[in-house]
Order: sequence, then C-alpha cells, then structure tokens
Amino acid sequence: MSRTMLIAGNWKMNGDAGQVDAFARSLAADASAITADMLVCVPFVYIERLVAGLADAPVAVGGQNVAAEVDAGAFTGEVNGAMLADIGCRYVIVGHSERRAMYGETDSVVAAKTSAAVAVGLTPIVCVGETLEQREADQTEAVLAAQIGALFEQCDARTLAEVVIAYEPIWAIGTGRSASPEQAQDVHAFLRGQIADRDATISESVLLLYGGSVKPDNAAALFAGADVDGALIGGASLKADSFLDIARAAG
Ligand code: PGA
Repeated sequence: MSRTMLIAGNWKMNGDAGQVDAFARSLAADASAITADMLVCVPFVYIERLVAGLADAPVAVGGQNVAAEVDAGAFTGEVNGAMLADIGCRYVIVGHSERRAMYGETDSVVAAKTSAAVAVGLTPIVCVGETLEQREADQTEAVLAAQIGALFEQCDARTLAEVVIAYEPIWAIGTGRSASPEQAQDVHAFLRGQIADRDATISESVLLLYGGSVKPDNAAALFAGADVDGALIGGASLKADSFLDIARAAG
C-alpha cells in the first residue's frame, strides 16, 4: 500500500501572534507546490489564527494536547476534542514525551486521549519513544512494544485505524542529535511489525513519523527509510523556511 508522507510541525509552547501570521503567509505562498501532507500544531490560543491564515493553503492545523474526557463539563483548564474540531483542527498530538514526563501522562491516559480524539473526528498523532538510559540498556524494543501494546489493548479497532504513530527517541528531542537513518528505519520496521502482529491491515496503512532533531539537512536521509512516512518536527518547524525545506525533502 502506498502511504502519503506526512510532515507535522510541533511548536510546543512557542510563538506569538506575529509569528503565527508570518508563518501562515509563507506557507500560503509556497505550500501548494509540495506533495507531502502538512500540518502544524500550535498552542491552543493560536489555533484559530493559524486556521484563518491557512484558509487557502493545503496545510492542516492541529492541537498539542486534548482532554481524555469526550463530553464537556467541569474540567477546569482542559480543552476537549470537540472544541478543537469546532475551531478547525484536524489533528492532535497525544502523549508527547514532554507530557508523559512532566505532566504524568501514562500509557492508559494516552490511550484514553487517543480514543477521545478519534471520537470527534480528529486524527491523533500518538508519540512513543525511549530514553537514552533505556536505549543504552537495550530496552528500546521492550519500551516501544509496551507503549504500542497499551494502545491496542485500550483502543477499539475504529480508533486504531485512524491513528498516526510518531517515534520520538527522547534522547533526540531538542538535542540536535537525531537518530541515524538506520536507527530510525530499524525502529520503524519494529513498530510496523508490532502492529502487524495485532492487525495486518492497519500495519500497512498506519503512518509512522520520525521525530527528534529533524532538520532540512538530515530529512532526506531519514525519509529514505521504507517505513519512515514523515516527520514530527519541533524546533525546525518554528521557521517557515526550514519547515518547507523538510516538507520538500519528503516530496
Ligand atoms: P525537535 O522536537 O525537532 O525540536 O527535536 C521534536 C518533538 O519534540 O516533537
């Protein structure tokens, strides 16, 4: 099955209104020549602004987090999937390692948020990945198998068919030290195998993104991996030029 490459930006807690506007203008001017699918996940407060700025551009907008609760109610500070969809989001990042490490999101919470996203028509980008300590202790596959296993245990088939997985080795995030193309491909092949053990159809269609210090100068080599279907980009997504260059490398 052929899979369309997906290039996703993750601004994390960065940016301001002026930066959103400038970014949208650049993407609106240049995105139509790019064949990969593109999306950008900005802080909640800038989502509507980016959606408006990209109204005529083939670039989707996503959130960086979503409540595990589907229904509205007394959950101070939370934003549910229906609200994200309501203001024009099509995607949402779920279980980023920063949320797992700093905000206590367990595999079970990540699975609940994944189901909540799909329930309202959002595509969840579910992040998995190992720490440096785990890699050096040869635990990478065990960690990833557990993270994928928890997702398949808790989510129904309809949810799993919509999921995008982002492999983000924690030691490569924001460090300038990307996984090598071989390391990325090896892990992606392992992940696809884990998924194939549970559902052969989903394993063929699921998009596996690589994330962790993806830059214009390493993107093409990473994308050469047969099981690398795109990227989740932090730092290099903050500037339209580098984001577009990475997207071109996927073309
Ligand atoms: P980075 O971040 O590209 O800045 O390493 C990736 C991510 O955390 O999604």
